[in-house]
Amino acid sequence: MAFEKYLKILEEEKLKLESDLAKIARKNPDDPSDWQVKAPQMDPMVSDQSELADMFEEMENQAGLEFQLERRLKSVVDSLERIRNGQYGTCIVCSNPIEERRLEANPMAKACIKHAKYPPFQ
Ligand SMILES: [Zn+2]
Repeated sequence: MAFEKYLKILEEEKLKLESDLAKIARKNPDDPSDWQVKAPQMDPMVSDQSELADMFEEMENQAGLEFQLERRLKSVVDSLERIRNGQYGTCIVCSNPIEERRLEANPMAKACIKHAKYPPFQ
């Protein structure tokens, strides 16, 4: 089975996720696979409670978004790695080939349709 088309999809997804992440986070200098949410612009003059509350809410939203993007990016990077080492397209539970339609729906799938619900292989 040729995985070129998934390789392309995954490479594009990786670039997209990295640029999305770069808007709200920066790479951890000690661990390039880890991203840290940028602190919002702190205005030391802000004393208004509702403004502070907004700022913390914004931080929380960004942290949630960052977490999702980072998790997705890790999954993409992992899939690219699996293409490189020849494990891509093979179910990690039963070692059978993953159905084409499943990979088309989710190029990051690591398990076949039968095992798709097995945690933590989502
Ligand atoms: Zn399986």
